[in-house]
Amino acid sequence: MPWYVHATLSRSMANGPGTRFVIWTQGCSLGCAGCFNTGTHEVGGRARSVQEMVREVFATEGIEGVTVTGGEPLEQPEPLRKFCTAVRAHSDLGIILLTGFTRTEIEGHHARLAAVESVDIAVTGRYNARLHLGRGLRGSSNKEYWPITSRYSAADFETVPETEIVIAPDGTVSITGMHGWLGEER
Ligand code: SF4
Repeated sequence: MPWYVHATLSRSMANGPGTRFVIWTQGCSLGCAGCFNTGTHEVGGRARSVQEMVREVFATEGIEGVTVTGGEPLEQPEPLRKFCTAVRAHSDLGIILLTGFTRTEIEGHHARLAAVESVDIAVTGRYNARLHLGRGLRGSSNKEYWPITSRYSAADFETVPETEIVIAPDGTVSITGMHGWLGEER
């Protein structure tokens, strides 16, 4: 099953508690004014398979879990559900989902709800630039934490850094965090 992915980062400390593998999905039609991740909006792009992504995550040692963000992950609910189900079934990794959909919108949509039931916590709701909030991984203060399991609570997000700069051994510099995926340079 194809999964359109904008970017990945194997080790991030600014996308949830602990060191996390991060997946930015491609495609978002929600159109929040002031979105800081507009490069993820266009649908399509690089298709990855769910199995390939699961293998990449499992090959990364010493991580606490995975964060799936975007783009809008729930506009591709079926590959997201399959990915999260596989990670949960075969590892102890925690799963965080960042989505622009509200809890009500998710609960009213079978495929979206099925995907969210496979994560540990979802951060839900549209980004509102007037309510911008750098800390806590919410983006804006109207967004809500929705714990699905008892693994994470809002308190776990209080010390997540707002931004990080990652320099890979090949010199690639990635800038990420609450301002989304800002790309990489060499
Ligand atoms: S903030 Fe998130 S949900 Fe809103 S338009 Fe940007 S990528 Fe989409």
